[in-house]
Amino acid sequence: MSDKISALLHKAGIASIIRRNELTAVKVHFGEKGNTAFIRPIFLRDIINFINGLGGKPFLTDTNTLYRGERSEAVSHVAIALLHGFNFTAVAAPVIIADGLRGTDETSISIQAKHFSGVLIGSAIINADSLVCVSHFKGHELSGFGGALKNLGMGCASREGKMKQHTDISPAIERNDCTGCGRCMEQCPVQAIAYVRKKAAINAGICIGCAKCITVCPQGAVKISWDENNRLFQEKMVEYALGVVQNKKNKLIFVNFLTDISPQCDCYGHADQSIVPDIGILASTDPVAIDQASADLVNAQQGAMHSALMKHHKPHQDKFRGLYPSVDWEVQLDYAEKLRIGARRYTLIRVS
Ligand code: SF4
Ligand code: SF4
Repeated sequence: MSDKISALLHKAGIASIIRRNELTAVKVHFGEKGNTAFIRPIFLRDIINFINGLGGKPFLTDTNTLYRGERSEAVSHVAIALLHGFNFTAVAAPVIIADGLRGTDETSISIQAKHFSGVLIGSAIINADSLVCVSHFKGHELSGFGGALKNLGMGCASREGKMKQHTDISPAIERNDCTGCGRCMEQCPVQAIAYVRKKAAINAGICIGCAKCITVCPQGAVKISWDENNRLFQEKMVEYALGVVQNKKNKLIFVNFLTDISPQCDCYGHADQSIVPDIGILASTDPVAIDQASADLVNAQQGAMHSALMKHHKPHQDKFRGLYPSVDWEVQLDYAEKLRIGARRYTLIRVS
């Protein structure tokens, strides 16, 4: 596997992207606590070694989550990364959380698109000279699958950026869970939270959707109103991906791992049985082409019986619609092509 990773990176042209002494962000997902499907650190070491060989200065990175969990601030996030084996001994690179201690270290990038005129990206990713976007390809309940586009769009966004992709509605406070401690009020930058009958309440007319209150609440009383319109979600996610691609023009490469292809995101605190057998690893400079090729390779497989696949087990049947029948995963690829992020047509070159 290690030899193949080196050959793959070489063939994909990584040497023309990373220059000597460049700070190179390697965007990964360290896995939520309890998840075991994330990419094995030892494979990341092969990528890190390759970047070091080019004279680059690589670091592993991800952004804090919108929801409350083990990765919603940098202290717990780094701790879980270390627990999952992403330490210097195994990977030979430091871990830097791209949007900082509490998910507020962000940089605004201007774009011209339907939903957003600017996107909020973790500053360490924007400030890096080059980006290697390493994605675990798997199912996802909102976008059908999660690959390079999702790792760019959602994975590189700050907490406020994630909030803007997920919903247009302010968070709300569950009165039964609120103890009235006032911490959320201290943190709110626009004083949108006030006491109503001794419990905190958010004024949606003032709230700017920064998402700070979600993680500061010790009771988990601040709830996100998730947008369930998956078409809108995918378009917003792709517009965020556009911001990163624009910022890292010609300094960006994608690696998709088609291994442990779980039905759900690595954000889940568990990993279900793979829906198809392991396929391999893909690399490309085009995030649309690599995701299209990854989806086609997964769909070509025989689906695993007794997995989360409800239907479409036969080769060349749509595995992602077999998992999430109401989600049209092609929306993200169509829209990304329309925004000229990349092309759905590809040539698959086998590296052995
Ligand atoms: S999301 Fe931000 S602006 Fe809105 S209530 Fe929470 S802290 Fe205040
Ligand atoms: S931080 Fe949480 S528990 Fe404290 S007042 Fe705000 S919502 Fe209530």
